[in-house]
Amino acid sequence: MTSRESDLLAQIPNQLFIGGRWVDAEGGTTLDVFDPSTGEVIRRIADASPADGIRALDAAVAAQEAWAATAPRERSDILRRAFDLVQARKEDLALLMTLEMGKPLAESRGEVAYGGEFLRWFSEEAVRISGRYGMNPEGTGRMVVSQRPVGPSFFITPWNFPLAMATRKIAPALAAGCTVVVKPAELTPLTTLFFAQLLAEAGVPEGVVNVITTSSSSAVSGPIISDPRLRKLSFTGSTPVGQKLIAQAAEGVLRVSMELGGNAPFVVFEDADLDKAVDGAMLAKFRNIGQACTAANRFIVHESVAAEFSQRVADRVRAMNVGRGTEDGVQIGPLIDDRAVAKAQELVGDAVERGARILAGGNALEGPGTFYEPTVVEGVVPGSAILREEIFGPVLAISTFSDEDEAVRLANDTEYGLVSYVFTQDLARGHRMIDRLETGMMGLNVGVVSNAAAPFGGVKQSGMGREGGLEGIHEYLNVKYTLIPA
Ligand code: NAD
Repeated sequence: MTSRESDLLAQIPNQLFIGGRWVDAEGGTTLDVFDPSTGEVIRRIADASPADGIRALDAAVAAQEAWAATAPRERSDILRRAFDLVQARKEDLALLMTLEMGKPLAESRGEVAYGGEFLRWFSEEAVRISGRYGMNPEGTGRMVVSQRPVGPSFFITPWNFPLAMATRKIAPALAAGCTVVVKPAELTPLTTLFFAQLLAEAGVPEGVVNVITTSSSSAVSGPIISDPRLRKLSFTGSTPVGQKLIAQAAEGVLRVSMELGGNAPFVVFEDADLDKAVDGAMLAKFRNIGQACTAANRFIVHESVAAEFSQRVADRVRAMNVGRGTEDGVQIGPLIDDRAVAKAQELVGDAVERGARILAGGNALEGPGTFYEPTVVEGVVPGSAILREEIFGPVLAISTFSDEDEAVRLANDTEYGLVSYVFTQDLARGHRMIDRLETGMMGLNVGVVSNAAAPFGGVKQSGMGREGGLEGIHEYLNVKYTLIPA
Protein backbone atom coordinates (compact mmCIF):
# COMPACT_ATOMS: atom_id res chain seq x y z
CA MET A 1 0.00 0.00 0.00
CA THR A 2 1.31 3.47 -0.85
CA SER A 3 1.60 6.22 1.75
CA ARG A 4 -1.08 8.21 -0.11
CA GLU A 5 -3.43 5.23 0.26
CA SER A 6 -2.71 4.67 3.95
CA ASP A 7 -3.02 8.40 4.70
CA LEU A 8 -6.42 8.50 3.04
CA LEU A 9 -7.66 5.37 4.82
CA ALA A 10 -6.54 6.77 8.18
CA GLN A 11 -8.75 9.85 7.59
CA ILE A 12 -11.94 7.84 6.98
CA PRO A 13 -14.28 7.75 9.99
CA ASN A 14 -14.46 4.28 11.55
CA GLN A 15 -17.48 4.80 13.80
CA LEU A 16 -21.24 4.94 13.38
CA PHE A 17 -22.79 8.30 12.49
CA ILE A 18 -25.85 8.79 14.66
CA GLY A 19 -27.58 12.05 15.52
CA GLY A 20 -24.73 14.09 14.05
CA ARG A 21 -22.08 12.39 16.20
CA TRP A 22 -19.49 9.70 15.49
CA VAL A 23 -19.99 6.93 18.03
CA ASP A 24 -18.69 3.41 18.70
CA ALA A 25 -20.89 0.38 18.28
CA GLU A 26 -22.44 -1.02 21.44
CA GLY A 27 -19.74 -3.01 23.26
CA GLY A 28 -17.03 -1.62 20.97
CA THR A 29 -17.51 -4.39 18.40
CA THR A 30 -15.69 -4.00 15.08
CA LEU A 31 -15.57 -5.47 11.58
CA ASP A 32 -12.73 -5.56 9.04
CA VAL A 33 -12.82 -4.09 5.54
CA PHE A 34 -10.61 -5.71 2.87
CA ASP A 35 -8.92 -4.72 -0.39
CA PRO A 36 -10.13 -7.39 -2.85
CA SER A 37 -7.00 -6.96 -4.98
CA THR A 38 -4.70 -8.06 -2.16
CA GLY A 39 -6.96 -9.68 0.43
CA GLU A 40 -5.47 -7.36 3.07
CA VAL A 41 -7.45 -5.64 5.83
CA ILE A 42 -7.50 -1.91 5.08
CA ARG A 43 -9.63 -0.54 7.90
CA ARG A 44 -11.35 -1.73 11.08
CA ILE A 45 -14.70 -0.05 11.69
CA ALA A 46 -17.65 -0.18 14.08
CA ASP A 47 -19.94 -3.22 13.80
CA ALA A 48 -23.43 -2.06 14.80
CA SER A 49 -25.80 -4.14 16.91
CA PRO A 50 -29.61 -4.15 16.55
CA ALA A 51 -29.73 -1.64 19.45
CA ASP A 52 -27.38 0.69 17.53
CA GLY A 53 -29.74 0.41 14.54
CA ILE A 54 -32.67 1.52 16.65
CA ARG A 55 -30.60 4.41 18.07
CA ALA A 56 -30.03 5.55 14.50
CA LEU A 57 -33.75 5.34 13.78
CA ASP A 58 -34.46 7.28 17.01
CA ALA A 59 -32.20 10.05 15.69
CA ALA A 60 -33.91 10.09 12.28
CA VAL A 61 -37.35 10.19 13.89
CA ALA A 62 -36.32 13.02 16.22
CA ALA A 63 -35.03 15.11 13.30
CA GLN A 64 -37.94 14.45 10.92
CA GLU A 65 -40.39 17.20 11.82
CA ALA A 66 -37.87 20.03 11.76
CA TRP A 67 -36.30 18.79 8.51
CA ALA A 68 -39.69 18.52 6.78
CA ALA A 69 -40.37 22.11 7.85
CA THR A 70 -37.18 23.58 6.34
CA ALA A 71 -37.57 25.80 3.31
CA PRO A 72 -37.10 23.83 0.08
CA ARG A 73 -34.42 26.35 -0.91
CA GLU A 74 -32.47 25.51 2.24
CA ARG A 75 -32.54 21.79 1.46
CA SER A 76 -31.60 22.59 -2.11
CA ASP A 77 -28.60 24.70 -1.03
CA ILE A 78 -27.35 21.95 1.30
CA LEU A 79 -27.52 19.37 -1.50
CA ARG A 80 -25.74 21.72 -3.86
CA ARG A 81 -22.96 22.25 -1.29
CA ALA A 82 -22.71 18.47 -0.94
CA PHE A 83 -22.32 18.24 -4.73
CA ASP A 84 -19.50 20.80 -4.63
CA LEU A 85 -17.76 18.97 -1.78
CA VAL A 86 -17.94 15.68 -3.69
CA GLN A 87 -16.32 17.43 -6.67
CA ALA A 88 -13.63 18.92 -4.42
CA ARG A 89 -12.85 15.49 -2.93
CA LYS A 90 -13.35 13.45 -6.08
CA GLU A 91 -9.82 12.03 -6.19
CA ASP A 92 -10.06 10.84 -2.59
CA LEU A 93 -13.52 9.35 -3.12
CA ALA A 94 -12.35 7.57 -6.28
CA LEU A 95 -9.25 6.12 -4.65
CA LEU A 96 -11.25 4.99 -1.63
CA MET A 97 -13.76 3.16 -3.84
CA THR A 98 -10.97 1.45 -5.76
CA LEU A 99 -9.36 0.35 -2.50
CA GLU A 100 -12.47 -1.16 -0.96
CA MET A 101 -14.24 -2.40 -4.09
CA GLY A 102 -11.46 -2.99 -6.63
CA LYS A 103 -12.69 -1.23 -9.78
CA PRO A 104 -10.11 0.61 -11.90
CA LEU A 105 -9.46 4.16 -10.77
CA ALA A 106 -10.80 5.62 -14.03
CA GLU A 107 -14.12 3.89 -13.40
CA SER A 108 -14.19 5.07 -9.80
CA ARG A 109 -13.77 8.62 -11.09
CA GLY A 110 -16.69 7.93 -13.43
CA GLU A 111 -18.78 6.80 -10.49
CA VAL A 112 -17.96 9.97 -8.54
CA ALA A 113 -19.16 11.99 -11.54
CA TYR A 114 -22.33 9.89 -11.92
CA GLY A 115 -23.06 9.55 -8.20
CA GLY A 116 -22.41 13.24 -7.57
CA GLU A 117 -24.94 14.24 -10.20
CA PHE A 118 -27.82 12.96 -8.03
CA LEU A 119 -26.91 15.64 -5.49
CA ARG A 120 -27.01 18.38 -8.12
CA TRP A 121 -30.16 17.02 -9.82
CA PHE A 122 -32.14 16.72 -6.59
CA SER A 123 -30.87 20.07 -5.33
CA GLU A 124 -32.72 21.39 -8.40
CA GLU A 125 -35.79 19.21 -7.79
CA ALA A 126 -36.14 20.16 -4.11
CA VAL A 127 -37.57 23.56 -5.08
CA ARG A 128 -40.00 22.12 -7.67
CA ILE A 129 -42.20 19.99 -5.40
CA SER A 130 -45.69 21.15 -6.30
CA GLY A 131 -49.36 20.22 -6.31
CA ARG A 132 -52.70 20.95 -8.01
CA TYR A 133 -55.69 23.11 -7.27
CA GLY A 134 -59.01 22.94 -9.08
CA MET A 135 -62.80 22.87 -8.97
CA ASN A 136 -64.37 19.41 -8.70
CA PRO A 137 -66.53 18.30 -11.68
CA GLU A 138 -69.77 19.02 -9.77
CA GLY A 139 -68.68 22.59 -9.11
CA THR A 140 -69.35 22.14 -5.41
CA GLY A 141 -65.84 22.12 -4.02
CA ARG A 142 -62.21 23.03 -4.53
CA MET A 143 -59.73 20.17 -4.63
CA VAL A 144 -56.23 20.75 -3.32
CA VAL A 145 -53.62 18.09 -4.06
CA SER A 146 -50.34 18.55 -2.20
CA GLN A 147 -47.26 16.46 -1.56
CA ARG A 148 -45.71 15.81 1.82
CA PRO A 149 -42.48 14.01 2.78
CA VAL A 150 -43.01 10.31 3.48
CA GLY A 151 -40.99 10.48 6.70
CA PRO A 152 -38.06 8.54 8.18
CA SER A 153 -36.57 6.24 5.55
CA PHE A 154 -34.21 3.26 5.75
CA PHE A 155 -31.73 2.47 3.00
CA ILE A 156 -29.84 -0.75 2.41
CA THR A 157 -27.20 -0.48 -0.34
CA PRO A 158 -24.96 -2.99 -2.19
CA TRP A 159 -21.17 -3.09 -2.56
CA ASN A 160 -20.83 -2.66 -6.31
CA PHE A 161 -21.37 1.14 -6.59
CA PRO A 162 -20.50 2.36 -3.10
CA LEU A 163 -21.06 6.08 -3.75
CA ALA A 164 -23.78 6.16 -6.41
CA MET A 165 -26.09 3.74 -4.62
CA ALA A 166 -25.94 6.02 -1.57
CA THR A 167 -26.41 9.35 -3.37
CA ARG A 168 -29.22 7.96 -5.56
CA LYS A 169 -31.29 7.34 -2.42
CA ILE A 170 -30.08 10.02 0.00
CA ALA A 171 -30.35 12.99 -2.40
CA PRO A 172 -34.04 12.57 -3.34
CA ALA A 173 -34.98 11.75 0.25
CA LEU A 174 -33.32 14.89 1.61
CA ALA A 175 -34.78 16.99 -1.21
CA ALA A 176 -38.28 15.75 -0.31
CA GLY A 177 -37.78 16.49 3.40
CA CYS A 178 -37.19 12.95 4.70
CA THR A 179 -34.60 11.92 7.29
CA VAL A 180 -32.68 8.71 6.69
CA VAL A 181 -30.79 5.78 8.16
CA VAL A 182 -28.32 4.22 5.71
CA LYS A 183 -26.83 0.76 6.02
CA PRO A 184 -24.13 0.27 3.39
CA ALA A 185 -22.86 -3.17 2.37
CA GLU A 186 -20.40 -4.61 4.88
CA LEU A 187 -17.88 -5.21 2.07
CA THR A 188 -17.64 -1.52 1.05
CA PRO A 189 -18.81 0.71 3.93
CA LEU A 190 -15.95 3.24 3.85
CA THR A 191 -17.25 5.36 0.97
CA THR A 192 -20.60 5.93 2.74
CA LEU A 193 -18.81 6.89 5.97
CA PHE A 194 -16.67 9.39 4.08
CA PHE A 195 -19.74 10.70 2.25
CA ALA A 196 -21.59 11.17 5.57
CA GLN A 197 -18.72 13.36 6.70
CA LEU A 198 -19.10 15.48 3.54
CA LEU A 199 -22.86 15.77 4.10
CA ALA A 200 -22.27 17.04 7.64
CA GLU A 201 -19.76 19.55 6.25
CA ALA A 202 -22.37 20.65 3.69
CA GLY A 203 -24.71 21.57 6.55
CA VAL A 204 -27.03 18.56 6.86
CA PRO A 205 -28.48 18.99 10.37
CA GLU A 206 -27.94 16.46 13.14
CA GLY A 207 -29.98 13.29 12.80
CA VAL A 208 -31.10 13.94 9.21
CA VAL A 209 -28.59 11.40 7.85
CA ASN A 210 -27.45 8.49 10.02
CA VAL A 211 -25.09 5.71 8.94
CA ILE A 212 -24.76 2.30 10.55
CA THR A 213 -22.19 -0.25 9.42
CA THR A 214 -22.67 -3.86 10.43
CA SER A 215 -21.70 -7.42 9.65
CA SER A 216 -25.18 -8.56 10.79
CA SER A 217 -27.37 -6.98 8.13
CA SER A 218 -30.39 -9.10 8.69
CA ALA A 219 -30.37 -8.87 12.51
CA VAL A 220 -29.86 -5.08 12.46
CA SER A 221 -32.29 -4.34 9.64
CA GLY A 222 -35.17 -6.48 10.94
CA PRO A 223 -36.06 -4.34 14.00
CA ILE A 224 -35.75 -1.11 11.98
CA ILE A 225 -38.07 -2.41 9.25
CA SER A 226 -40.66 -3.59 11.76
CA ASP A 227 -40.56 -0.35 13.79
CA PRO A 228 -43.86 1.51 13.21
CA ARG A 229 -42.03 4.87 13.16
CA LEU A 230 -40.29 3.94 9.90
CA ARG A 231 -42.18 5.13 6.79
CA LYS A 232 -40.13 3.92 3.86
CA LEU A 233 -37.65 1.18 2.92
CA SER A 234 -35.47 1.51 -0.16
CA PHE A 235 -33.24 -1.42 -1.03
CA THR A 236 -30.72 -2.05 -3.78
CA GLY A 237 -29.34 -5.55 -3.98
CA SER A 238 -30.16 -9.06 -5.04
CA THR A 239 -33.67 -10.28 -5.79
CA PRO A 240 -33.68 -13.04 -3.11
CA VAL A 241 -32.82 -10.53 -0.35
CA GLY A 242 -35.35 -8.06 -1.83
CA GLN A 243 -38.06 -10.72 -1.61
CA LYS A 244 -37.32 -11.27 2.09
CA LEU A 245 -37.40 -7.53 2.77
CA ILE A 246 -40.71 -7.05 0.93
CA ALA A 247 -42.19 -9.78 3.13
CA GLN A 248 -40.89 -8.05 6.27
CA ALA A 249 -42.19 -4.68 5.07
CA ALA A 250 -45.63 -6.14 4.34
CA GLU A 251 -46.25 -6.61 8.04
CA GLY A 252 -46.35 -2.84 8.66
CA VAL A 253 -47.59 -2.00 5.10
CA LEU A 254 -44.35 -0.08 4.69
CA ARG A 255 -43.74 1.78 1.44
CA VAL A 256 -40.88 0.13 -0.45
CA SER A 257 -38.63 0.80 -3.42
CA MET A 258 -36.70 -2.21 -4.70
CA GLU A 259 -33.80 -2.00 -7.13
CA LEU A 260 -33.01 -5.66 -7.62
CA GLY A 261 -31.09 -7.96 -9.92
CA GLY A 262 -30.92 -7.94 -13.70
CA ASN A 263 -30.28 -10.31 -16.60
CA ALA A 264 -29.89 -7.80 -19.42
CA PRO A 265 -30.19 -9.00 -23.01
CA PHE A 266 -27.87 -7.37 -25.56
CA VAL A 267 -29.48 -7.93 -28.95
CA VAL A 268 -27.45 -7.40 -32.12
CA PHE A 269 -29.53 -7.42 -35.32
CA GLU A 270 -28.14 -8.26 -38.75
CA ASP A 271 -28.46 -4.59 -39.73
CA ALA A 272 -26.51 -3.26 -36.72
CA ASP A 273 -23.47 -1.03 -37.06
CA LEU A 274 -20.98 -3.63 -35.75
CA ASP A 275 -18.39 -1.03 -34.71
CA LYS A 276 -20.97 0.52 -32.41
CA ALA A 277 -22.21 -2.88 -31.23
CA VAL A 278 -18.69 -4.02 -30.28
CA ASP A 279 -17.97 -0.73 -28.46
CA GLY A 280 -21.33 -0.97 -26.70
CA ALA A 281 -20.70 -4.59 -25.75
CA MET A 282 -17.35 -3.79 -24.13
CA LEU A 283 -18.97 -1.08 -22.01
CA ALA A 284 -22.17 -2.94 -21.18
CA LYS A 285 -20.23 -6.06 -20.18
CA PHE A 286 -16.90 -5.05 -18.66
CA ARG A 287 -17.74 -1.81 -16.85
CA ASN A 288 -17.35 -2.39 -13.10
CA ILE A 289 -15.66 -5.73 -13.91
CA GLY A 290 -19.07 -7.02 -15.00
CA GLN A 291 -20.43 -6.43 -11.48
CA ALA A 292 -23.33 -4.16 -12.37
CA CYS A 293 -27.05 -4.87 -12.22
CA THR A 294 -27.13 -3.22 -15.66
CA ALA A 295 -24.35 -5.45 -17.05
CA ALA A 296 -25.27 -7.18 -20.31
CA ASN A 297 -25.73 -10.80 -19.30
CA ARG A 298 -26.90 -12.48 -22.52
CA PHE A 299 -25.53 -11.47 -25.94
CA ILE A 300 -28.19 -12.49 -28.44
CA VAL A 301 -26.69 -12.00 -31.89
CA HIS A 302 -28.19 -12.61 -35.34
CA GLU A 303 -26.70 -15.79 -36.82
CA SER A 304 -25.45 -13.94 -39.92
CA VAL A 305 -23.17 -11.61 -37.89
CA ALA A 306 -22.44 -13.77 -34.83
CA ALA A 307 -19.04 -15.08 -36.03
CA GLU A 308 -17.71 -11.62 -36.84
CA PHE A 309 -19.12 -10.05 -33.67
CA SER A 310 -17.64 -12.84 -31.54
CA GLN A 311 -14.19 -12.57 -33.10
CA ARG A 312 -14.12 -8.82 -32.72
CA VAL A 313 -15.10 -8.78 -29.06
CA ALA A 314 -12.70 -11.67 -28.34
CA ASP A 315 -9.82 -9.69 -29.91
CA ARG A 316 -10.67 -6.70 -27.73
CA VAL A 317 -10.99 -8.85 -24.62
CA ARG A 318 -7.64 -10.60 -25.14
CA ALA A 319 -5.98 -7.17 -25.13
CA MET A 320 -7.47 -6.08 -21.77
CA ASN A 321 -5.18 -5.44 -18.81
CA VAL A 322 -6.02 -7.16 -15.55
CA GLY A 323 -4.60 -5.92 -12.25
CA ARG A 324 -5.00 -3.77 -9.15
CA GLY A 325 -7.38 -0.92 -9.93
CA THR A 326 -4.86 1.70 -8.81
CA GLU A 327 -2.35 0.72 -11.55
CA ASP A 328 -2.20 2.71 -14.77
CA GLY A 329 -3.94 1.14 -17.74
CA VAL A 330 -5.79 -1.56 -15.77
CA GLN A 331 -9.26 -2.25 -17.20
CA ILE A 332 -10.23 -5.30 -15.15
CA GLY A 333 -9.75 -5.29 -11.38
CA PRO A 334 -10.51 -8.09 -8.93
CA LEU A 335 -13.94 -9.55 -8.31
CA ILE A 336 -15.35 -8.68 -4.91
CA ASP A 337 -14.58 -12.04 -3.23
CA ASP A 338 -13.87 -15.78 -3.65
CA ARG A 339 -17.52 -16.59 -4.08
CA ALA A 340 -17.75 -14.29 -7.09
CA VAL A 341 -14.78 -16.05 -8.72
CA ALA A 342 -16.26 -19.47 -7.98
CA LYS A 343 -19.56 -18.38 -9.54
CA ALA A 344 -17.89 -17.22 -12.78
CA GLN A 345 -15.99 -20.52 -12.95
CA GLU A 346 -19.14 -22.52 -12.36
CA LEU A 347 -21.22 -20.66 -14.98
CA VAL A 348 -18.51 -20.89 -17.66
CA GLY A 349 -17.94 -24.57 -16.81
CA ASP A 350 -21.63 -25.36 -17.19
CA ALA A 351 -21.88 -23.48 -20.51
CA VAL A 352 -18.84 -25.31 -21.92
CA GLU A 353 -20.13 -28.68 -20.75
CA ARG A 354 -23.31 -28.01 -22.73
CA GLY A 355 -21.36 -27.22 -25.90
CA ALA A 356 -20.21 -23.55 -25.74
CA ARG A 357 -16.65 -22.63 -26.81
CA ILE A 358 -14.26 -20.28 -24.99
CA LEU A 359 -12.82 -17.64 -27.34
CA ALA A 360 -10.87 -15.65 -24.74
CA GLY A 361 -9.99 -16.01 -21.05
CA GLY A 362 -11.83 -18.63 -19.07
CA ASN A 363 -9.62 -18.89 -15.98
CA ALA A 364 -9.37 -17.65 -12.44
CA LEU A 365 -5.99 -16.07 -11.74
CA GLU A 366 -3.58 -16.96 -8.95
CA GLY A 367 -3.89 -14.79 -5.84
CA PRO A 368 -3.35 -12.67 -3.92
CA GLY A 369 -6.65 -11.03 -4.74
CA THR A 370 -9.76 -12.50 -6.32
CA PHE A 371 -9.24 -12.16 -10.07
CA TYR A 372 -11.02 -13.79 -13.00
CA GLU A 373 -9.87 -13.21 -16.57
CA PRO A 374 -12.16 -11.31 -18.93
CA THR A 375 -13.79 -14.07 -20.92
CA VAL A 376 -15.81 -14.63 -24.10
CA VAL A 377 -17.87 -17.79 -24.71
CA GLU A 378 -19.81 -18.37 -27.91
CA GLY A 379 -22.40 -20.92 -28.92
CA VAL A 380 -24.15 -20.86 -25.53
CA VAL A 381 -27.15 -23.20 -25.78
CA PRO A 382 -30.60 -22.73 -24.25
CA GLY A 383 -30.84 -24.19 -20.75
CA SER A 384 -27.33 -23.05 -19.75
CA ALA A 385 -27.23 -21.56 -16.25
CA ILE A 386 -25.35 -18.51 -17.57
CA LEU A 387 -28.52 -17.45 -19.44
CA ARG A 388 -30.70 -17.64 -16.33
CA GLU A 389 -28.47 -16.27 -13.58
CA GLU A 390 -26.78 -12.94 -13.08
CA ILE A 391 -23.11 -13.57 -13.94
CA PHE A 392 -21.79 -10.55 -12.00
CA GLY A 393 -18.34 -11.03 -13.50
CA PRO A 394 -16.37 -10.32 -16.71
CA VAL A 395 -17.86 -13.09 -18.83
CA LEU A 396 -19.44 -12.29 -22.21
CA ALA A 397 -21.76 -15.12 -23.28
CA ILE A 398 -23.02 -15.24 -26.87
CA SER A 399 -25.94 -17.14 -28.36
CA THR A 400 -27.69 -16.66 -31.72
CA PHE A 401 -31.16 -16.04 -33.19
CA SER A 402 -32.63 -16.11 -36.68
CA ASP A 403 -35.53 -13.60 -36.75
CA GLU A 404 -36.97 -10.67 -34.80
CA ASP A 405 -39.69 -12.69 -33.07
CA GLU A 406 -37.12 -15.14 -31.80
CA ALA A 407 -34.92 -12.26 -30.58
CA VAL A 408 -37.85 -10.82 -28.62
CA ARG A 409 -38.77 -14.22 -27.18
CA LEU A 410 -35.18 -14.90 -26.06
CA ALA A 411 -34.68 -11.38 -24.66
CA ASN A 412 -37.87 -11.61 -22.58
CA ASP A 413 -37.16 -15.19 -21.43
CA THR A 414 -36.11 -14.21 -17.89
CA GLU A 415 -37.85 -13.30 -14.65
CA TYR A 416 -35.80 -10.07 -14.62
CA GLY A 417 -36.55 -6.84 -16.50
CA LEU A 418 -34.09 -4.12 -15.58
CA VAL A 419 -32.37 -3.01 -18.77
CA SER A 420 -32.04 -4.20 -22.38
CA TYR A 421 -29.61 -3.20 -25.10
CA VAL A 422 -30.58 -3.29 -28.78
CA PHE A 423 -28.35 -2.61 -31.78
CA THR A 424 -30.07 -1.99 -35.11
CA GLN A 425 -29.94 0.72 -37.77
CA ASP A 426 -33.59 0.20 -38.64
CA LEU A 427 -35.52 2.95 -36.86
CA ALA A 428 -38.89 1.19 -37.12
CA ARG A 429 -37.40 -1.99 -35.66
CA GLY A 430 -35.83 0.04 -32.83
CA HIS A 431 -39.27 1.44 -31.96
CA ARG A 432 -40.86 -2.02 -32.12
CA MET A 433 -38.24 -3.25 -29.66
CA ILE A 434 -39.01 -0.38 -27.27
CA ASP A 435 -42.62 -1.63 -27.23
CA ARG A 436 -41.94 -5.35 -27.14
CA LEU A 437 -39.13 -5.79 -24.61
CA GLU A 438 -40.17 -6.30 -20.99
CA THR A 439 -37.70 -3.90 -19.46
CA GLY A 440 -37.57 -0.82 -17.24
CA MET A 441 -34.79 0.76 -19.31
CA MET A 442 -33.36 0.35 -22.78
CA GLY A 443 -30.21 1.39 -24.63
CA LEU A 444 -30.79 1.70 -28.38
CA ASN A 445 -27.36 1.51 -30.03
CA VAL A 446 -25.63 2.40 -26.76
CA GLY A 447 -24.11 0.30 -23.97
CA VAL A 448 -24.66 2.52 -20.89
CA VAL A 449 -27.95 4.24 -20.01
CA SER A 450 -27.57 5.51 -16.44
CA ASN A 451 -28.10 9.23 -15.89
CA ALA A 452 -29.23 11.19 -12.84
CA ALA A 453 -31.89 12.91 -14.97
CA ALA A 454 -33.44 9.58 -16.03
CA PRO A 455 -35.72 7.20 -14.11
CA PHE A 456 -33.63 4.16 -13.14
CA GLY A 457 -35.48 0.97 -12.28
CA GLY A 458 -36.91 -2.30 -13.43
CA VAL A 459 -40.03 -4.37 -14.08
CA LYS A 460 -40.80 -8.00 -13.18
CA GLN A 461 -38.42 -9.34 -10.53
CA SER A 462 -35.97 -6.49 -11.09
CA GLY A 463 -38.06 -4.49 -8.68
CA MET A 464 -40.35 -1.50 -8.24
CA GLY A 465 -39.88 2.23 -7.92
CA ARG A 466 -37.58 4.60 -9.79
CA GLU A 467 -34.43 6.43 -8.76
CA GLY A 468 -33.37 9.64 -10.50
CA GLY A 469 -35.26 11.72 -13.03
CA LEU A 470 -38.47 13.58 -12.33
CA GLU A 471 -39.83 10.33 -10.91
CA GLY A 472 -37.14 9.85 -8.23
CA ILE A 473 -38.41 12.38 -5.70
CA HIS A 474 -41.92 10.90 -5.76
CA GLU A 475 -40.59 7.81 -4.01
CA TYR A 476 -40.24 10.08 -0.95
CA LEU A 477 -43.50 12.04 -1.19
CA ASN A 478 -47.02 11.15 -0.14
CA VAL A 479 -49.90 12.62 -2.10
CA LYS A 480 -52.48 14.40 0.05
CA TYR A 481 -55.90 15.49 -1.21
CA THR A 482 -58.06 18.08 0.56
CA LEU A 483 -61.63 19.10 -0.39
CA ILE A 484 -62.86 22.59 0.43
CA PRO A 485 -66.59 23.25 -0.23
CA ALA A 486 -67.06 26.05 -2.75
P1 NAD B 1 -27.15 -8.45 -1.53
O1 NAD B 1 -28.60 -8.56 -1.76
O2 NAD B 1 -26.43 -9.65 -1.02
O3 NAD B 1 -26.83 -7.31 -0.49
C1 NAD B 1 -27.29 -6.00 -0.65
C2 NAD B 1 -27.38 -5.34 0.70
O4 NAD B 1 -28.33 -6.05 1.49
C3 NAD B 1 -26.10 -5.32 1.50
O5 NAD B 1 -26.04 -4.11 2.22
C4 NAD B 1 -26.28 -6.47 2.47
O6 NAD B 1 -25.56 -6.29 3.66
C5 NAD B 1 -27.76 -6.42 2.74
N1 NAD B 1 -28.39 -7.68 3.13
C6 NAD B 1 -28.10 -8.93 2.72
N2 NAD B 1 -28.95 -9.81 3.27
C7 NAD B 1 -29.81 -9.11 4.04
C8 NAD B 1 -30.93 -9.44 4.86
N3 NAD B 1 -31.35 -10.70 4.98
N4 NAD B 1 -31.59 -8.43 5.49
C9 NAD B 1 -31.19 -7.16 5.36
N5 NAD B 1 -30.14 -6.78 4.60
C10 NAD B 1 -29.46 -7.73 3.95
O7 NAD B 1 -26.54 -7.93 -2.88
P2 NAD B 1 -25.03 -7.57 -3.21
O8 NAD B 1 -24.31 -8.85 -3.45
O9 NAD B 1 -24.48 -6.61 -2.23
O10 NAD B 1 -25.22 -6.76 -4.56
C11 NAD B 1 -25.36 -7.38 -5.78
C12 NAD B 1 -26.82 -7.42 -6.20
O11 NAD B 1 -27.35 -6.10 -6.20
C13 NAD B 1 -27.00 -7.92 -7.61
O12 NAD B 1 -28.10 -8.78 -7.68
C14 NAD B 1 -27.28 -6.65 -8.40
O13 NAD B 1 -28.00 -6.86 -9.58
C15 NAD B 1 -28.02 -5.85 -7.42
N6 NAD B 1 -27.94 -4.44 -7.76
C16 NAD B 1 -29.07 -3.84 -8.24
C17 NAD B 1 -29.04 -2.51 -8.61
C18 NAD B 1 -30.28 -1.86 -9.14
O14 NAD B 1 -30.35 -0.64 -9.10
N7 NAD B 1 -31.26 -2.58 -9.63
C19 NAD B 1 -27.88 -1.77 -8.47
C20 NAD B 1 -26.74 -2.40 -7.97
C21 NAD B 1 -26.80 -3.74 -7.61
